[in-house]
Amino acid sequence: MKRIISLLLASSAFLASPAFTQPATQADTVDPSLPTQLPRTAIPHHYALTVTPHASRLTFDGRVAIDLDVIKPTRELVLNAADLKFTSALLTRVGDRGSVTALVSFDPGAQTATLSFQRALTQGAYRLDIAYSGKINTQANGLFALDYKNAEGKDARSLFTQFEAADARRFVPSWDEPDYKARFDLTVRVPTNQMAVSNMPAAESWPIGAGLKEVRFQTTPTMSSYLLFFATGDFGRIAKPSAGKEVGVVMSRGNESKAGLALDAEAQILPYYNEYFGTPYPLPKLDNVAGPGQSQFFSAMENWGAIFTFERSLLVDPAITSEADRQRVFGTEAHEMAHQWFGDLVTMAWWDDLWLNEGFASWMADKTTEHFHPDWGADVDHVAAREAAMNLDSFTTTHPIVQQVRTVEQANQAFDTITYEKGESVLAMLEGFAGPDTWRTGIRDYIVRHAYQNTRTEDLWASMERVGAAGLATIARDFTNQPGVPLITVGSVQCVGGRMVTTLTQTQFSNDRRQETAASPLSWRVPVRASAGGAATQAITAGRTTPISVEGCGPLLLNPGQTGYYRTLYAAPQAAALRSAFPSLGPVDQYGTMQNAMALSRAGYQPMARALDLLAEVPTGDNGKVVERAMLDWSSLYDGLDGDDGSRAAIAERMEQTYGPRLRAIGLSPRAGEAPIDALLRPTLIEQLGRFGDPAVVTEANRLFAAWLKDRNAIPGSVKTAWLQVTARNATPTTWDALHAAARATGGQVERTALYNLLGSTRDEALGRRALELAMTPEPGKTISAGMIRSVAVQHPSLALDFVLSHSAAVNQLIDTSGRSRFVAGLVEASDDPALIGKLQAYGSATFRATDRKPIDRAVVQIRWRAANRGRIRSETAAWLKAHPLTATALSPRRRGGERG
Ligand SMILES: [Zn+2]
Repeated sequence: MKRIISLLLASSAFLASPAFTQPATQADTVDPSLPTQLPRTAIPHHYALTVTPHASRLTFDGRVAIDLDVIKPTRELVLNAADLKFTSALLTRVGDRGSVTALVSFDPGAQTATLSFQRALTQGAYRLDIAYSGKINTQANGLFALDYKNAEGKDARSLFTQFEAADARRFVPSWDEPDYKARFDLTVRVPTNQMAVSNMPAAESWPIGAGLKEVRFQTTPTMSSYLLFFATGDFGRIAKPSAGKEVGVVMSRGNESKAGLALDAEAQILPYYNEYFGTPYPLPKLDNVAGPGQSQFFSAMENWGAIFTFERSLLVDPAITSEADRQRVFGTEAHEMAHQWFGDLVTMAWWDDLWLNEGFASWMADKTTEHFHPDWGADVDHVAAREAAMNLDSFTTTHPIVQQVRTVEQANQAFDTITYEKGESVLAMLEGFAGPDTWRTGIRDYIVRHAYQNTRTEDLWASMERVGAAGLATIARDFTNQPGVPLITVGSVQCVGGRMVTTLTQTQFSNDRRQETAASPLSWRVPVRASAGGAATQAITAGRTTPISVEGCGPLLLNPGQTGYYRTLYAAPQAAALRSAFPSLGPVDQYGTMQNAMALSRAGYQPMARALDLLAEVPTGDNGKVVERAMLDWSSLYDGLDGDDGSRAAIAERMEQTYGPRLRAIGLSPRAGEAPIDALLRPTLIEQLGRFGDPAVVTEANRLFAAWLKDRNAIPGSVKTAWLQVTARNATPTTWDALHAAARATGGQVERTALYNLLGSTRDEALGRRALELAMTPEPGKTISAGMIRSVAVQHPSLALDFVLSHSAAVNQLIDTSGRSRFVAGLVEASDDPALIGKLQAYGSATFRATDRKPIDRAVVQIRWRAANRGRIRSETAAWLKAHPLTATALSPRRRGGERG
């Protein structure tokens, strides 16, 4: 699954989270060490499933015949079912004539159905026939509907499924846990004028009257229930051959021309993965199916042979798609396709090891993007991912990559930054340790050895050690079984015989427990690389101190290439030397060094000046991703300086003087043949310079807005959101109303979503309130409203939180169940307002069990930490700005119409 970008979700009603774990009396004969909700008395092998959706009334009927083995005598079978009604349940022993009827009882809390029989079932093969009905949801759980305007502007509805982590049970009564792999035969009855899509190609299709047809799909390979997929709608499809298979993109009819980039990416990536994994893609076709709408939980899902992706991450719409969106199409495709092997062919045995799926797919996507598009800066993205992970991993509320998951809610919460970004970062470090060739051989060994089966984390390390990566497993365990971030402190440095000699001291980096972790740090064996102008040296830290000797006597840089997962604290002379060398570092090291310094300064390990000195060294002409990061860092410092107009003016002046010329150099509009990294940077320059009140940018934004209201083609699609953002942020009631009218009149789902989100991004609190009220009406549409609330929360976290808490039942209808526990926390976790803590905690304890509150707890510690450090960061930043005036005018009062106060 690919998560949505930026902050995640919200939630509100009481979520009684079904526990997976059964009492200890339920002996387990398959793998007793695996958690399970279902007593291991029966193993399913094959599901023959027929589903008839009734799209207009949001219900469906189903019949399923499950071939299973009873593996120990029992009087009952327990399987998963959620929101399903059974009309009959019959069990037949294979070879017998008669059937026995089961007495059915449901446990809605546990999401199970128990089938009881009068006499004990003996071991052997059985067929279980269940007739049932279920609900079609309006958020992405189970079978769900997405409504949109079709090519003729008429209301239309398509149906899709989304089952990970635990929602196949809303579609079919099943043993809905990843290690109960089985084969599936799906048959659907759908309108004759619709296209039905599933994991496998259709085997046959025939009309059955009343405007319906029956479509039977080919049998799937053995796979986990969460990977089953079905969609039906007024679809188009484009396809082409690749590596002996067919790759295709399915979309709402009329959008075919927007799918070329995605189709090309599929065709390009498939042979590359066949080669990398060493086992060819096993299904006859691979589709990627576009859904009009969005989720607050995910953007795409790796159903085997039928990936599902929300339109914004799959289709390229010239009216609204930016360069970042285009690159996201490729990256999402690469991520979901990696899952076709890592996740689908070989699946984690239990959610504790979810990171195997997600960390790997994220790592593979960056590697693949870097391979095919070396000019996109995916190497820098990889450092950004590591920084996001290390930030969360430095709070008390973090958890190990391999974590204990015992409830459905915990499984949903496991889709987090530690699982994805830390997982990806640790894999990159281990690949660096093993070397890319040995690493790939290990991956091939792992895939071929466990194909169609389930694994745990240790199986991957075993493959790596088997193919020659000696010592990898012990390092890997240190980073996957314990939480946190190592801190490497560089001692005094001496140049001896053309080599830099020093001692590294290893402790633990922490944002909120600096004293405690200094006194009793966790311990890792860290593969540390260092360079000093000559060849890089690698050492494995062991114990508290490790001596190293590095070729060359230039500035000492730890972690060159930035694949290491640790922070580095330099003494003042080394920090100064590194600062002088900063402009000559490559983009990856500039980005990593700058973010390392910022994290240490913000946490109080060193003065803010150390980080600001580096930020100020990022020149105009640098790599776009480094420039973007520097601007966002300044922007966040600016946020923290509210009330200090002089310091804010100094930052604004610095931005305008430093980065204004870059925007003028690359141009206000896209240019043919420009570097992708410039195209990527342009929207950030527009938004940030606009926010800092750069007169040229603000004037142009106002001009373009007026022109766009008359002619919707007046702003190129790739910079439309950025320009409108400048206006929306500073909106007056008049401009807000005009933007609202434009949003209402927009048909395309992706553009429509973007415009409604902009309505929530205004600095004016009264307009923010209007956006919240608008979100609660049917007008935006069921999958747009939650995003509007998030958008308001960026400027007005307190307002958004109060609003959501007082409308919790209605807001819950706007979010998929898998995302609810994160939504509220996500609204305020970036805030530094301590007044929010009490409200958040009260909501958390009223809504979730203590074990299911991770996102709330995480938001609380972050807000508390920001509030505690705010004064120090403000005063040190203000002092630095005073000491480093850019020009004589830098400290003069603001003269422009930017933000104030
Ligand atoms: Zn994924």
